[in-house]
Amino acid sequence: MPGPGHMGGRAYLTEEEKNNAVKVTWPLIKRIFSYLKPYIPQLMLALLAISMSAVLDMYPSILTGRIVDEGLIGRSMPTLVKLIVISFVLKIASNLVGVLQNYMNSWIAQHITYDMRNQMFAHLLKMGTRFFTENNQGDVITRMTDDISGVQNIISNTFASILSNVITLIAALVAMYRRNWILATMALVIVPLFSLPTRMAGKKRWALTKEAQENRDEINGILNETLSVSGQLLVKLFTAEDREYEKYRASNERMIKLNIKESMAGRWFWMMISTFTSFGPMLIYLAGGVIMMNYDQSLTVGDITVMVSLLSRMYGPVNSLLSIGVEWIRSMANFTRIFDYFDMEPEIQEIRNPIVPVTATGKVSFENVDFGYSPDRQILTDISFSLPKGRCIAFVGPSGSGKSTIVNLIPRLYDVWSGTVRFEGVDVRNLDLKWLRSNIGMVSQETYLFSGTIKDNLLYARPEATMEEITEACKKANIHDFIMSQKDGYDTMVGNRGLKLSGGEKQRISIARVLLKDPALMIFDEATSALDTISEDLIQQAIEPLIAERTSILIAHRLSTVLAADEILVIKDGMIVERGKHADLVKQNGVYTELYEKQFKRLEVPEKQE
Ligand code: ATP
Repeated sequence: MPGPGHMGGRAYLTEEEKNNAVKVTWPLIKRIFSYLKPYIPQLMLALLAISMSAVLDMYPSILTGRIVDEGLIGRSMPTLVKLIVISFVLKIASNLVGVLQNYMNSWIAQHITYDMRNQMFAHLLKMGTRFFTENNQGDVITRMTDDISGVQNIISNTFASILSNVITLIAALVAMYRRNWILATMALVIVPLFSLPTRMAGKKRWALTKEAQENRDEINGILNETLSVSGQLLVKLFTAEDREYEKYRASNERMIKLNIKESMAGRWFWMMISTFTSFGPMLIYLAGGVIMMNYDQSLTVGDITVMVSLLSRMYGPVNSLLSIGVEWIRSMANFTRIFDYFDMEPEIQEIRNPIVPVTATGKVSFENVDFGYSPDRQILTDISFSLPKGRCIAFVGPSGSGKSTIVNLIPRLYDVWSGTVRFEGVDVRNLDLKWLRSNIGMVSQETYLFSGTIKDNLLYARPEATMEEITEACKKANIHDFIMSQKDGYDTMVGNRGLKLSGGEKQRISIARVLLKDPALMIFDEATSALDTISEDLIQQAIEPLIAERTSILIAHRLSTVLAADEILVIKDGMIVERGKHADLVKQNGVYTELYEKQFKRLEVPEKQE
């Protein structure tokens, strides 16, 4: 009798899956098998175990014939006991080999997916920033998890089950044909014929399951949106409680209706399966009886018993072989989705023999740089400037003018369209990428701290840093006292489930992290969000040592930061429109003057009021 595994969602394809079915080509097969190659000896052992277990498993069924004929009808106690013991031993042996087979299957599948996951992760780490901004994070993670698990499933279950089912069927048919060809042929017709209606019922049930799943997703969506921190605020402020309740109630009602339908379809399904599967043996008994009584005296009761027992063992394998096509299409889709990622070339590549300069001073220059994130929209036009060793320049300009974009080009997060970005006088595209990035420290607007302790986050910059170095960096970054005021000090958890830090605190930790890295060039992208005067002062004091000690670039939103720079570059619409010192620029009545009046001056007001 087919088990529940044959009725689940996995046995049928969605329309989308059908339409997107992958064309199986020879190179694709070869590529898949290249992953199996390292494990050929283990594969052989698994195949042997599968075949042995399938054959051994059939034997007790065949022995039932002799148990009936020689033991029961022949009334011989010793034969009966002997045959029962043999059946029992064979069953144990088959189960033991089954255990080995299971172990081998999962060992091989796990090792192959282990290789694939590592290869995928290493590949993803090499992908450029554009890849991550353009691809949905959920999608990337799905490939790492679901698609690779799908592949694991086909290796550990599908391959093994095809083989063991084929062997079981062949063994059953051989055994049947050796007894009576008419009954065997009947079985050959009955099994697939009776498997079809159950498949149809399963399909219907699966369609319902899918509908119910979509409904559940919808409900989860409503819950996520309305019960999240910002969602519930929106609901409250727009007094949308009644509307949201009605939406939820309607979805909920649809769900219970679907659930009832689904569970009833399940009942019908099982009813059909049990009716059909019990029909088969009855037919064999009937036909066997007719043959035995009228035509063939040599056919025994035992033979008919064996036939019936073998017949019921054939449903499972036939059913699962009938759905192999589906499994196959689905797993080919998994494989190609994974291979699609492997085939993407990392955008930022090193040249063959990259240059590693002896010293790093943080010197940067841009020569006529044009750049855009996508070909249809140019962001930067003809950017040229040079930042000598030890100096500091500040970029200012309206929001969206391209300031962050300029600095993204220095550590080669993206490559220019035309023109050159130089670091230490060398085109960044010719530099060793690791060397380049290890000499640049960036404090971005959105500071990312991962889940872990403050110390873990700091050590990310330099895992071998000592506690003294850490505290020194934190003191410079003006965050040491804050950290020490926490109960666990440097061991305080931050990130998702840890201490919630304010924007200013996060930025100061990130300044300390960059100080630990001690890069030749410091890039500081000041947060646009308004900080209170105290946090601003603390940050200001934190940046000062950074600027004093090394070459630096500031993307400034506050006058106090701008004043610290040796040169100010005013960016508008992706171009440098003015450059110079504050005192000169402010007199020019241009973009800078406007910025000063509108932004800097206004931000300075609270300070002046104090
Ligand atoms: P702000 O002061 O608000 O931080 P900014 O001057 O630093 O602004 P950029 O972040 O450099 O501005 O953005 C310049 C332009 O490039 C904007 O119009 C923005 O929409 C676009 N842009 C930024 N990042 C990307 C990206 N990853 N993909 C496509 N477009 C982007």
